Formats: sequence, structure tokens, C-alpha cells
Amino acid sequence: MDRLAIVVPCYNEEEVLKLASEALRGVLEDLVQKEKIAPDSFIMFVNDGSRDRTWELIEEEHAAYPVRVKGVKLAGNVGHQFALTAGLITAKDMSDVIISIDADLQDDVNVIEEMIDKFHAGSDIVYGVRKERKTDTFFKRTTAQAFYKLMGMMGVKTVYNHADFRLMSKRAVEEFSKYKETNLFLRGMMPLIGYQTDSVYYDRGERAAGESKYPLKKMLALAFNGISSFSVKPISLILGMGMFIIFMCVLAAIYALISYFTGHVVAGWTSLILSIWFLGGLQLLAIGMVGQYIGKVYIEVKHRPRYNIEKVLAKEKSEG
Ligand code: UDP
Ligand code: MG
Repeated sequence: MDRLAIVVPCYNEEEVLKLASEALRGVLEDLVQKEKIAPDSFIMFVNDGSRDRTWELIEEEHAAYPVRVKGVKLAGNVGHQFALTAGLITAKDMSDVIISIDADLQDDVNVIEEMIDKFHAGSDIVYGVRKERKTDTFFKRTTAQAFYKLMGMMGVKTVYNHADFRLMSKRAVEEFSKYKETNLFLRGMMPLIGYQTDSVYYDRGERAAGESKYPLKKMLALAFNGISSFSVKPISLILGMGMFIIFMCVLAAIYALISYFTGHVVAGWTSLILSIWFLGGLQLLAIGMVGQYIGKVYIEVKHRPRYNIEKVLAKEKSEG
């Protein structure tokens, strides 16, 4: 039977930690009973340098439920994406299948069973997808929507309305661990892994307690990081703009020359206006060209795996 690990990044979550532990232990107990997961399945809390009593609470939970609850303590606050990565990579060596979920119980723990079913049906990655965003504020909803749209326009493949509530098989996490990049945007990286994927749908609830650890500033940083780590399209936009302005320069030249020969212009205007268009276009074009190389260097330094071989059919001897 497959051993399940539930990875939970926690930053200043003293108010919800016990609640989360109880809810997730309940889910594990139930799944063990139904013989869907191994009896030694566990929760792994990753303390992301909390300044409150989060770590003490994790220690208490571990003491009370040594098999069910494990903890990882990061030396300082590194942010949600890194904390989650640390948890995934630590948990993969102790388990066969891993689910990541936030500590605040906003994601519905009752769909974990469905995730496991889809895993047993052959999917390596199962995305938790929010049905609606009724409980989010209007502001959070519209900004999030705009974010997914912009990501799509920039050519970043993401699963719509999916955050970081997902199941991954051990081999998917192993493949993920080969992505050595430091600018992490997990939900953009998962589709790159390949393998069969599936989704489960749920309603996202309110935070069980405490307040959001993702203020607008962090959200904008995440969005910008998502685009700049996955797409060199902004550079191509500059190049395109340069080309467009050089083209406009030709039109401007025709207009300026006609005005010059029909004679109603101030002396010097023609050469000035032409220089402005031409130099402006040339500069953008040059920046865009240089940018193309920087974009390539950027992609190279990421050293991402170029492919992921799932199977090889190559028997050496014919049998029978
Ligand atoms: N989190 C973390 N490190 C941080 C910020 C947040 O590990 O620096 C965790 C946090 O404890 C929670 C998850 O990331 O488990 C998501 O945070 P939150 O629920 O506050 O985000 P929101 O749901 O408001 O977007
Ligand atoms: Mg939350």
C-alpha cells in the first residue's frame, strides 16, 4: 500500500496548527481504515521560520502522535514556495505519494480521498481546483483572475484557479527536484514535468483562524516572479515595439517630407522629427536584440531538465 505524506508549510500559524493537525489526522485515519493508504502515512509540518509558537506546537503534536505527525524546521523564513519545496523534497524519501496543502484549512480536506483515488487510477499529479471564489473578497477575486489571464497571455502554462493544493507521486516529486532554479513558481513548474494529470474540484472556505500571510505586496511579487521566471515574452515585446517604431518612422518620414516640400514647416522641424523617430526606434530595437540574448542566457542558466522519459521499450532478447 502507498504511504501518503501531507506537507503543510506554516508561517506564524499558531492559531490554526492544532486545528489543521486534527483535521488532517482525521483524514489520514479514515483513509487508513478504508485501506487506501499505508498505516504509517503522515503529516509533515514545515515551519518556515515562524516568530510565534508554531514550532513548539509542532513538537507537541509530534510527541503526542509520533507516527502521524512529523516536523521540519527551517532555520529562517524563506517564503511559502521554498518552504513547500523543502517539505516535498524531504517527504519524498519517506513516502510514495505526497499532498501539499496550506495550514489554514481553506482548501477542502475532504477531497483528499478523491485525489488518492485519482492517483490510484494512474495520475501522477492531481490538481486541487477551486470551483468558485465566493468567500474571497471582490478585490482578491478580481486580482487573481487578472493574474491568471496575464500569465496565459505571457505564455506561462498554469492550471486555472489552482494554487498549491495538489497531489504528486514520488516520481513526480523526484522529477521536480531536478529543477534547480531559485526563482520558484511551483504551479508553473508542475505542468512542465509531464506525466498524466487530473483535477479535483472543491469550494475554498474561509481561513480557519489567523490572518492571511499573503498581503498584496507578496501577491504582486509572486505574480511578477511567475511571469519573469517562465517567460521571456516581455523581451520580445520590446523587440516588437522597436520594429513597430522603425516602421512608423517610414510613415513619419513620408509625412515630414510632404510637409517640407509643400513648404509650411518651421526650419529644422523635418530633420528633428525624423531623428526622434529613427533614434527612438533604433534604441528599442537594439535593446530588444540584446534582450533576446539575455533571454537565452536566462533559459540556459536555469538548467531545467530538457525532457522526462517515462518509459523505454527495448527488450534485449525475445522471450519465449
Ligand atoms: N506561508 C509560509 N511562509 C510564508 C508565508 C506563508 O510557509 O512566508 C504559508 C502559510 O503558513 C500557509 C500558506 O503558506 O500555510 C498560505 O498562506 P496564506 O493562507 O496566508 O495565503 P492566502 O491563502 O491568504 O493566499
Ligand atoms: Mg490561505
